[in-house]
Amino acid sequence: MKNRITELFNIEYPIIQAGMIWCSGWKLASAVSNTGGLGIIGSGSMYPQVLDEHILKCKNATSNPFAVNLPMLYPNIEEHIETIIRHKVPIVFTSAGNPKLYTSRLQSKGITVVHVVSSLSFAKKAQEAGVDAIVAEGFEAGGHNGRDETTTLCLIPMVKKEISIPIIAAGGIATGQAMLACMALGAEGFQIGSRFVACNESSAHTNFKQAVINAKEGDTELTLKELTPVRLLKNNFHQTIKAAYNNNASKEELQNLLGRGRAKKGMFEGDLDDGELEIGQIAGLLDNLKSAEEIVKSLVSEFNDAKNQIINTSF
Ligand code: NDP
Ligand code: NDP
Repeated sequence: MKNRITELFNIEYPIIQAGMIWCSGWKLASAVSNTGGLGIIGSGSMYPQVLDEHILKCKNATSNPFAVNLPMLYPNIEEHIETIIRHKVPIVFTSAGNPKLYTSRLQSKGITVVHVVSSLSFAKKAQEAGVDAIVAEGFEAGGHNGRDETTTLCLIPMVKKEISIPIIAAGGIATGQAMLACMALGAEGFQIGSRFVACNESSAHTNFKQAVINAKEGDTELTLKELTPVRLLKNNFHQTIKAAYNNNASKEELQNLLGRGRAKKGMFEGDLDDGELEIGQIAGLLDNLKSAEEIVKSLVSEFNDAKNQIINTSF
């Protein structure tokens, strides 16, 4: 397949592994890039020196393009930007912030910039800022998410109607059938998170990977909208938040409950009770651990089979 996304990133398949804190280090990113998709290092959980190390290891493990995800809430963002420029990382996915801040600076260094949005208004802002493509991420997605609760099925066509730059769909995609559906809505690429958490090469703790595989429909919730909205697997920590909401907790009380380092505790250290477990709704569909290569191969064959099944269908 050749389209604007494969050409923009110089990749074989428009399949993009999401940048996910504590789950997507160099091992996952290079494994995905080696299959012909695009791997992303999630830099939000990395101290500057750790990012430096992961970029070097990724370069050694793949000769294909890879990207770094830069959440703009990150405290030492300037250091990350300098590291990315120094290592000549070809592609950056910015998220959770204003795309006007860094786009032109990164592009002036020859870096392709993609921005992640959760609504049409943010998509327009990103296009105005001059980004090369956007990720339109629906309410189903895990981790940080929009406040508007717009689902992928609604978001992609609304964005497509008003935006001319290429769109990468995200949120609820774990199969080739879902990729085909998003393409029918106007997307040219597919960003996939949860499926790549339950992957041999992901740096998530095995307890978390197993919890993702065990998850059923209804096991996640988008919460903490007063702070940074985040979709979590329901666990003891989630119960604590729920109880706090029932007691009309203030924003400050919620912040104190969240504390610091809970995402690391849950996803990297495997504390399934008191850690933050960020995952998408589609975890309910996943029932096995696979390698990055197996995941990408299945996505491609499912996409082709689904397309062939409906190709002669008409009303
Ligand atoms: P390496 O095999 O080089 O190193 C693994 C390191 O990670 C070991 O030092 C180990 O510490 C530590 N580690 C493993 N599991 C855990 C855990 N559950 N909690 C805390 N520490 C753990 O791996 P990489 O090349 O993949 O990683 C290089 C560096 O990047 C390491 O410092 C690693 O922690 C970090 N990293 C950060 C990620 C992030 O999203 N921030 C993702 C992946 C890695 P020990 O030997 O003491 O067990
Ligand atoms: P917390 O404030 O709860 O904790 C900070 C965590 O990040 C700690 O575990 C810390 O590691 C690690 N860390 C890495 N670099 C730094 C740094 N320069 N200064 C301080 N801590 C650092 O934040 P969260 O864990 O909730 O989020 C961390 C980052 O990840 C934020 O930038 C956030 O925006 C981003 N994020 C991105 C998501 C995504 O989907 N891309 C989802 C959720 C968060 P240690 O414990 O070893 O000190």
